[in-house]
Amino acid sequence: MEQLIPNWLKKRASLTPDRTAIIFEGQHYTFKQIYDSSLRTAAQLAGVGVGKGSLAAVLLSNHKDSAIILYALQMIGARTIILNNRLTAKELTWQLEDSRAALLVTEQRFSRQNQEIGHSFKKPIFTKEELFSKPGTEPAIQEEYSLGDVTTIMYTSGTTGQPKGVMQTYGNHWWSATASALNLGLREEDRWLCAVPIFHISGYSILMRSLIYGMGIVLHSSFDEKKVLVDIEKYNTTIMSVVSTMLQKTVEELGQDKLPPFFRCFLLGGGPAPIAMLEKCRQKGIPVYQSFGMTETSSQFATLSPEYSLSKLGSAGKALFPNQIMIADEQGNELPCMAEGEILVKGPNVTQGYLHREQETQANIREGWLHTGDIGYIDSQGFLYVLDRRSDLIISGGENIYPAEIEGVLLSHPGIIDAGVVGMEDPTWGQVPAAFIVKREESSVTDKDLINLCLERLAKYKVPKSIAFMDELPRNGAKKLLRRKLREKAKADGE
Ligand code: ATP
Ligand code: MG
Repeated sequence: MEQLIPNWLKKRASLTPDRTAIIFEGQHYTFKQIYDSSLRTAAQLAGVGVGKGSLAAVLLSNHKDSAIILYALQMIGARTIILNNRLTAKELTWQLEDSRAALLVTEQRFSRQNQEIGHSFKKPIFTKEELFSKPGTEPAIQEEYSLGDVTTIMYTSGTTGQPKGVMQTYGNHWWSATASALNLGLREEDRWLCAVPIFHISGYSILMRSLIYGMGIVLHSSFDEKKVLVDIEKYNTTIMSVVSTMLQKTVEELGQDKLPPFFRCFLLGGGPAPIAMLEKCRQKGIPVYQSFGMTETSSQFATLSPEYSLSKLGSAGKALFPNQIMIADEQGNELPCMAEGEILVKGPNVTQGYLHREQETQANIREGWLHTGDIGYIDSQGFLYVLDRRSDLIISGGENIYPAEIEGVLLSHPGIIDAGVVGMEDPTWGQVPAAFIVKREESSVTDKDLINLCLERLAKYKVPKSIAFMDELPRNGAKKLLRRKLREKAKADGE
């Protein structure tokens, strides 16, 4: 039977109209104000033809207006394709075409991309400035949301290949918000700082939690560690979502100071976290919840609470309440604890599949289990350890090597800013690890120093056979390391 929940924003505005929903650039906006603005915007969107089920693409920055556009589209029942504003016009055009978007809502600030997109994307393009000046027609607002309906489509980061449009239902977001509350608890005074992009599930999920919990969010247009520390203090922020580079910079900025006592935790996700950084946070008494999740799981799926941060350092914790994790071999058979295999996930916040990609959906979701393409293991107490992506695994003389482990060791050197490790063909071992390094300008670190550091900390077969210094490493729009590009470079260098 279809499960229905009343329109989240409308319900929220009726339950707690005067509570702060969003703080943006010093201004407070209540749920009632956000609802009224979203209704107006919904009328304007309806006026340009957006209705239930429409594939409407948006290219937006972290801004109060963007939250309103996203809420308006959700209330209409459109399927919103949320584009990553760090992508090039070429990448954006590809996603617009791949998703078969019927229109694009963008901003004047992206005028360069908009212009280029307009050359090949022949559907209507509106800036928010244009949209907001339209008269609008009576919108058909969904009074109820059906949990099985798709509300957002987000493309994966494209770290391993071509990005795929992940369909997320109302139910996926509902359960993701619920699972997070069951884990972190919910307090009346909670306020969540969002300096991660709202085009990404990490940021969008904060918008959903705000509506579902009735919780205020402090929205930053971009990440700035100084501003973060000021606003944590100023707005009694209790929780903040971060990826590891953000946490690293914030902790560095904090120096010897302490975070205020009302600050509850950093929720850390998006990729592997260097152990040295987690260790530093622990020493400084900074509470960090390390998590594992992906676009396909509508944000965090497993989380490690700080009470285990010492004994289970480096683990991504256990699957949240409604979720399950299994480690499986290539045939999909469950493996015992401590055995390394592919991480399979199952739960109500897991996607139904990829937009217009029936084959890939069927290949990746089997009997309710999503095959993540990540390798990990579960220890005897049920804690998940994510090792790396299957596609980045290096097999050297029959031994499995996980690049993330080696990168973690290299990054522990104070003279190193960034490190990437990939497999390089080798006549004796099949593959051997090769490292690419970005060092601090002032650092005099040499390849020998780094090899010695690795020899101290790693088994010999894991020690990189070559070390190359670069000005920067190839990263995508989500700032994730593109090891496939490094592999190409290693191959070219070896020839
Ligand atoms: P694509 O699927 O297009 O290659 P992507 O997988 O990078 O892109 P996302 O959905 O943004 O796109 O990222 C999810 C991935 O991030 C996970 O599958 C995993 O590889 C990595 N990741 C997330 N959390 C962790 C963690 N705690 N430790 C290690 N890796 C993690
Ligand atoms: Mg992925």
